[in-house]
Amino acid sequence: MFVVPRSHELSDFWDLEIRKFHKLIKETSMYQCLVHLEDEPCATDAPPTPGCNHDQNVCNACMRTDMEGKIRSGKLQNLTCLDPYCMKPLPVHKVRKLIGPECLKIYDRKLAVLAISIAPNFRWCRCGSGQIHGLGDSSSEWICVDPQCRRQNCYTCNTIGLIDCPHLRAINEKRRAHRAEMRRLPQVAFEQKQMEILEDKP
Ligand SMILES: [Zn+2]
Ligand SMILES: [Zn+2]
Ligand SMILES: [Zn+2]
Ligand SMILES: [Zn+2]
Repeated sequence: MFVVPRSHELSDFWDLEIRKFHKLIKETSMYQCLVHLEDEPCATDAPPTPGCNHDQNVCNACMRTDMEGKIRSGKLQNLTCLDPYCMKPLPVHKVRKLIGPECLKIYDRKLAVLAISIAPNFRWCRCGSGQIHGLGDSSSEWICVDPQCRRQNCYTCNTIGLIDCPHLRAINEKRRAHRAEMRRLPQVAFEQKQMEILEDKP
């Protein structure tokens, strides 16, 4: 016996079929990546930000290269969708998902630095890193914690780069004098011993 489907069942059926059809078209068609200008299979990936009103138009490999370059040069504020008409800021979870493990470590460190940068005793280093200097003015020198940088900075002058900081100059001079003294110590001890030997002679 042939059962005539009720009208709402029929429309549900066609809705589903049309959705499947659209999905198939999307999966089998291509788009041109705006960055490397070659065809890429239309990924099921959403566009990079929730605010994007366009389909994905930059491939993940190009996104990754762009983001890693910006992260390494400390330009976190430039992490945006690469569609020139969109440029919406990328959500942190999207960035974390697309970048490589090495860069992820750098990204997380920079985010942490950004989070603490509002503290009054926080200082930026020229390399783009920064840290809280708990000792404050009582000990002006602070060394950048970034292992690639290790720059000597002054908390009191708070200038980017050490143009002419009296604090660091004084600290460095004292250190140089101390090192010279340490180098001279064996010689002094030797001379003293010689004197003692000479004095002991009858
Ligand atoms: Zn966008
Ligand atoms: Zn690409
Ligand atoms: Zn630094
Ligand atoms: Zn200074």
